[in-house]
Amino acid sequence: MSELREQLYRTPLKLSGYVSGRFTAPTGAEEIDVIDPATETRVATLLESSADEVDQAVRAARAAFDTGPWGRTTVAERQVALNAIHDAILDHADELAMLETINTGIPLTQTRGFHIPRAAQNFRFFGEYINQAGGEVFTQEPGLMSLVTYDPIGVCALIGPWNMPLGLTAMKIAGALAFGNTCVVKPSELTPLTVTRLFQIIEGLLPDGVMNLVNGRGQVTGTALVSHPGIDMVSFTGGTVTGAAILQSLAKGIKGSAMELGGKSANIVFADADFDQAIDAALMSSFMNNGQMCLAGSRIFVDRKISDRFIDSFSRRVKALKIGDPMVAGTEIGPMINQAQRERMERYAESGLGEGATLLAGGHRCANLNTGYFFEPTAMLAPGNDLAICQEEIFGPFAALQLFDDEDEVVAKANESDFGLVGYVWTDDLNRSMRVASGLRTGTVLVNTPIVRDLRTGFGGYKQSGLGREGAKGSQAMFTEMKTTIIAREPRKMPRMGMAAE
Ligand code: NDP
Repeated sequence: MSELREQLYRTPLKLSGYVSGRFTAPTGAEEIDVIDPATETRVATLLESSADEVDQAVRAARAAFDTGPWGRTTVAERQVALNAIHDAILDHADELAMLETINTGIPLTQTRGFHIPRAAQNFRFFGEYINQAGGEVFTQEPGLMSLVTYDPIGVCALIGPWNMPLGLTAMKIAGALAFGNTCVVKPSELTPLTVTRLFQIIEGLLPDGVMNLVNGRGQVTGTALVSHPGIDMVSFTGGTVTGAAILQSLAKGIKGSAMELGGKSANIVFADADFDQAIDAALMSSFMNNGQMCLAGSRIFVDRKISDRFIDSFSRRVKALKIGDPMVAGTEIGPMINQAQRERMERYAESGLGEGATLLAGGHRCANLNTGYFFEPTAMLAPGNDLAICQEEIFGPFAALQLFDDEDEVVAKANESDFGLVGYVWTDDLNRSMRVASGLRTGTVLVNTPIVRDLRTGFGGYKQSGLGREGAKGSQAMFTEMKTTIIAREPRKMPRMGMAAE
């Protein structure tokens, strides 16, 4: 067991909000236990931010935006601050990776190798991007010049999920700050450790009030934040149902939003694909991050011509996945985030069997792991696309396989979904890859590659997978107001109204 984990078990952290440059110390606040899902042990107590504290945080961000220095800093000054945050994250990378693993149950190899470097990279990327992200000038019309400029939008409410707490929230913070905004951040009440630690390790790098933190349950702290009249927009990553509730609340104030919501992404494997790559990627897309990924490609369509070999290899490797303590090197699957999520896995395993799917691997709690919310990585072969396991986001280590015979059929089936986040295509036929990519109704298509996130491109979903895109231009659209200024370069010709008086 790591020293850090032992220390947290002995002395759980006390977590609170951060308003106007200092951590809050609310009295009489609701206390919420934060649990290590691998051992069901408390690692922190969260002092919930009340509606009053949310109000103070929004006012602090409002003051820092309206009268503070941040919006008037030069690009070079903002770059210095963003690079300093990048460096601070990397200086604490090992500690942050351990905290993330202890809090989420995601294997340390993944938080260390991907989550934390990615969290840091967001700040470096947006620091560089704002140098190039200018406006537009149109001079085609004689006598006129039209300028399109991008002003900061104001106070951003940034709400993140529990499955990649620091990485996904860092992308929002970096984008919001880069474009000159101030913000109030709310992590999931289940996983507040790393985002709260970020506020500690960057103390002093930004003017007071630019970055504020509220901690607490979605229904309490989250609702108070999204319904506060002082915010200008919400950037939200989370479930589709929560996203819809937030949109309703924002509609009252005609506030903008960006929604990164759920997914049920198709992973299409044609017979001519590189078999080993396709199998490796199918496992990674279904089981990395304990399968708790919005862009999981766990709705796997296999060409019937290779189905026997694919199913045999896939099933054997799912059964061989190493489940256990996520802090231990070599662990491939850790626990589910909580008891509710494990029960959800059990319900889908039952529902799949009840609707006629064949169990290929897993399907149960782990018999040899009595403590911790462990569930066996699971694979089922579904007889049709309308089963709940093929249509609903399970958000755990659960792959649903189906067979197909031809290209048009599989594209149609892939699109038979309420979601449209990502489509994965595996084929050696370039023309086919282009046809299928253009036919898929998803925000991202990945051809012959597992998950890749390129910050220069936009990431987001069609249909119920969201609104807006995160990454370079998408983040600019999210965190700025577009302003048009039209300037006459010579006296304008116009009808002279009311000349009867002359
Ligand atoms: P939730 O929708 O339950 O929660 C997301 C965040 O919203 C949490 O911080 C939560 O707080 C907060 N919240 C909950 N209710 C409200 C409310 N009424 N008002 C304001 N905030 C609220 O999602 P999960 O945390 O369970 O995350 C899993 C979901 O996120 C999956 O559906 C997944 O697909 C999606 N996701 C999407 C991604 C994308 O980029 N498209 C990336 C990663 C995940 P609390 O937890 O404290 O209740």
